[in-house]
Amino acid sequence: MSAASQGHDAALAASSSKRPLGILAALPQELGDLIEAMRAESGVRTVTHGRRDYHVGTVHGAPCVVTLARVGKVAAAATVSALIHAFDVESVVFTGVAGGVGAEVRVGDIVVANALLQHDLDASPLFPRFEVPLLGMSRFTADATLAAQLAAACERFVAEEGAASAARFGTMRPRVHRGLIISGDQFVASAAGVKALREALPDALAVEMEGAAIAQVCHEYGVPCAVVRTISDTADDHAPASFVSFLTEIAGAYSNAILTRFLVARSAG
Ligand code: SAH
Repeated sequence: MSAASQGHDAALAASSSKRPLGILAALPQELGDLIEAMRAESGVRTVTHGRRDYHVGTVHGAPCVVTLARVGKVAAAATVSALIHAFDVESVVFTGVAGGVGAEVRVGDIVVANALLQHDLDASPLFPRFEVPLLGMSRFTADATLAAQLAAACERFVAEEGAASAARFGTMRPRVHRGLIISGDQFVASAAGVKALREALPDALAVEMEGAAIAQVCHEYGVPCAVVRTISDTADDHAPASFVSFLTEIAGAYSNAILTRFLVARSAG
């Protein structure tokens, strides 16, 4: 056997003994071509648990389990629990779209969470508003290293393809924001609704329906997690139309661009 092929075998053995990364989104459009890329690179083994399909293989050199959580906090919590129990994922990344809440956050921008909070959780006056009862926490921090790697992948995408992406999709040149993402079991789609969120949580950048549930479960199991969201709408009266057109036309392209860069850097490191 040649030294080169011995090296290749050793690299394969090392990569297959690595615990996988869990990658999830709520809706199929938010995963882009990730499962097709896995099929082409390593083949895909699909395992079904709790009515969800978990796709196991290697993408851009990184061992991954890729799945769809579907919509809402319960769906997200159930799915990430299975990723932890059945697949022993080393860490978790959620990718998807969200409504912009921060004044500077526009459609086409990207938000990487530093922290996540459930904006619809309220057991007051027994516990402070937003606090998860008996856990004593309202804000769950994303893993600093994973979030920084994800943000770096987003910055590279914007530097390399931001202008072309803006021209192609008719959006502004994307910007990358880092900060608080809030989650709840509502699609926020009114000026009054988004104003109330801004008043209650002035540092919130984006609103969605899964991230903080994933962050809570990952916190409880000690699994690092990070969340990246592309802004599909601004959670106001235009949100339904803006969400649908962004999801069908743009979300997949963003996801491909960000995840490819993130996974390539991860498997090189
Ligand atoms: N039936 C719709 C459900 C979409 S719900 C469909 O399948 O097309 C909206 C999804 O996008 C959720 O997963 C949520 O995380 C995210 N999202 C985008 N904009 C949002 C907003 N303004 N408010 C809440 N969630 C939003």
